[in-house]
Amino acid sequence: MSERPVQQGAGRGAFPAPAGTACAGCSVQLAPGQGRPQADGRVFCESCHHRRHRLRTCAACGAAVPRQECHRNRYGEYICRACQAAGVKRTLRGPLRKNAKRVALRVLNALIFTALGLLAVRFVLSALRQWDTPVAPAHSDR
Ligand SMILES: [Zn+2]
Ligand SMILES: [Zn+2]
Repeated sequence: MSERPVQQGAGRGAFPAPAGTACAGCSVQLAPGQGRPQADGRVFCESCHHRRHRLRTCAACGAAVPRQECHRNRYGEYICRACQAAGVKRTLRGPLRKNAKRVALRVLNALIFTALGLLAVRFVLSALRQWDTPVAPAHSDR
């Protein structure tokens, strides 16, 4: 009962950090001297820092812009400030992609129901045939 498991640094945010700091993004333990201090005082690990400062690609003009300099519309597209100022709120692909997903789902549903229907029809037909000719020699082997 007095035995306690030794906690390793690999755990994720389940225990308070006794020494050093934890990444504010993924709460991985950072050794002293490690980590990237941000402008707002928080410390991120390398990967979170890069994820945070990774440039987005404007869906309209293709320019690489930081996250703060662009707007994410409801289609999940990033539109840069310049394009926003030019009146671009989305690209044609955004709603198309959304509709395409809906159409694909509908087609998939139709396919599944058609397959189920065909299976049912085949089952009924074979049952009827067996019931119709109970002792028919289907194929004589030659
Ligand atoms: Zn992190
Ligand atoms: Zn743009």
